[in-house]
Formats: sequence, structure tokens, C-alpha cells
Amino acid sequence: MANWTELLELPVYQLNKADKKALFSTELFKLSQHHYQSCLAYRRIIDAVEPRFFFKENQPPIALAANIFKHHFLSSVEQQNIAKITTSSGTTSAQVSKIALDKENIARQQRVLTKIIKQWLGKKRLPMLIIDHPNVIKDKRSYSARGVGIQGLSLFGYHHTYALNEDMSINEDAITEFFSRYQNEKVFIFGFTFMVWQYFVKALQNLARSYPFKQGILLHSGGWKKLQQQAVSNDIFKQQTKQVLGNIHIHNFYGMVEQTGTVYVECEQGHLHCPVWSDIQIINVANMQELPKGERGVIQVNSLLPTSYPGHAIITEDIGILLGEDDCQCGRKGKYFSVLGRIEQAQVRGCSDTQN
Ligand SMILES: [Zn+2]
Repeated sequence: MANWTELLELPVYQLNKADKKALFSTELFKLSQHHYQSCLAYRRIIDAVEPRFFFKENQPPIALAANIFKHHFLSSVEQQNIAKITTSSGTTSAQVSKIALDKENIARQQRVLTKIIKQWLGKKRLPMLIIDHPNVIKDKRSYSARGVGIQGLSLFGYHHTYALNEDMSINEDAITEFFSRYQNEKVFIFGFTFMVWQYFVKALQNLARSYPFKQGILLHSGGWKKLQQQAVSNDIFKQQTKQVLGNIHIHNFYGMVEQTGTVYVECEQGHLHCPVWSDIQIINVANMQELPKGERGVIQVNSLLPTSYPGHAIITEDIGILLGEDDCQCGRKGKYFSVLGRIEQAQVRGCSDTQN
């Protein structure tokens, strides 16, 4: 398997196209072989799709549809070595994905997430304002949806302050206290995109309140579907958020529970960037072929992290477009892309979903 001591030392956004291609070709094939040998269900899927796959040197991985983790429990480690099972509830399905993690994978996810987030926040922990209510990490029903994200990112902050009450109303006292203490310092604000918009930005506008922080960074994540329904673009989101929070930096990021750790953060140009440990491909689902730059297709995410479950190549349920590689004006290397929306449930039936 990969030498993670070396892999973790790689700069997050500096590997060029040729080197990244070579790295991924080798490592993804090793991961495919590892999962083929270690996970019987995965082996059955691969054998059904492409017999003799195992013996074809440096074959690109056969990507599994993300929703396969809702129907099958795919583990590449012994039962007694599973340290944690992370779950996610889909927005359109009652079923949840179940991802088997061993200690090694959990540690690796956290280290990679730390490396990526520090690129944006800096090395030091920052005072942190969380756009949610404190019970979200205690409530079992919402835990998987939002609690995991909040807990993971809480490590980068201190003086954690929740901006909302349990009924989603604004906790003005808490925000005012946080603001009066940290308004001149660099602060870290985190929330899910829709929560930030609906229960924070809109609510503050209704109250005619603003908290103009002198410096700070807002990271936000989660689907745009509800905002698109309200005709709120990323530009409108940024502009109106700055009206209530001051001239802070705002970065959306994209990621999924099936590949926790490798998040895709939006740069100053508004482009989502692949970190060195993961990569994307835009796929034409009609023939499962990769599409060139500039064409709409379904996003496939490839990651070097998963060893305890076969999640190294996943066809997501999101539509995206590749904007370029290595040449973003922000100076970061790697592929950069946009997410355009979610696909209709019926379109997701990839080749890996044939067992259902
Ligand atoms: Zn960029």
C-alpha cells in the first residue's frame, strides 16, 4: 500500500498534472487490488463488470455509485477492526450510507483534513463562530447530517460559539458577546450553506443587525439546491453575507461522507480545487467515459485515502464541470471545477449498481 508518511508530506496544491497522473495511476490500482482481495462484495461487483480486471496492470478503478453504500455494507477490514461506522442521510432517500472505518483510516482522514483546512485558515486555531445550534452535535437524528462536519472543523477553533438557538432563531446575545470580544481579530466562521443563508444572513437582515468583523474567514458547505430554488447564486450569497459579517473571506467547499477528509475548497477565483490526495473526473453517464474540460457531466471522485472500505473511486450524484488543471489564476495546481447541481435520482444507475 501507499507510503503515507511520504504522501502526507506532499504539498496540498503543488503537484503538477504529469506527476499527479502517475501517482494516481499507481496508487488507485493498488487500492483496487487491495479491495478486490479484501472485500468479497466489491470483488463480486468488479467481476460482474469487468472480468480479469485484477490482472490488468494500472487499470483505472471501476467507480462505484455513491448510493451503493446505502444498499450494501462494504468493508475491506475484519469486523473486529472496524473502529467506527460513519453514516450520512441522503436528502432524497430514507436510506443512509454506511462507511466502515478502521483506526488508520480515521487518523488519516483527520490528518488530511487538517492539512487542507490549514491552507485556508493558517496554522493557528481561531475563535470560532458556528452557524448552528449547540444540540446539533448531541441530537442523534441530525448528528450524521451536520454534527460530523461541525465536530471535524471544531478542532480548528476555540471559544466555540453557536449562533443559533435550538429553534433556529438567532442567539443575539451569544453573537454580540463573540463579536465584542473578537471583532478586531481573525475569526473562523463555519456553517452549512443553507443554514448560513436562511437562519443567519436572512435573519440578521430582518433584524437590521450586522457584525462587521475586521478579518475572518467563513467556510461553508452543503448543497445549493435550496438556494438555487430561491435564485441565490454564489455571488449573491457572498455579497449579502459580507453585508452582515463585514469584509471577510468566504469559501464554499465540496465533499462527501464517502470520502471524508479530502474536501475541495473554493479559491479566491470561485473555483473548487482538488487537494493532492484526491482527484475528480467528469463522466458522461451514458457511456461512462470521461468528458473533457468545459463539458457538463457527473462528478467522479477518486481518493487515495480509503483502505478500510472500497471508496477510492465513487460516482457522485452531482453534476459538475471541469474548468482546468494546474493553471488557475490563484496559483494552485491540480484540477479545478464547479458543481452545478444534483442529478435526478433515476439517472444515478451506474454500472456498479446492477445488483439492486
Ligand atoms: Zn484557484
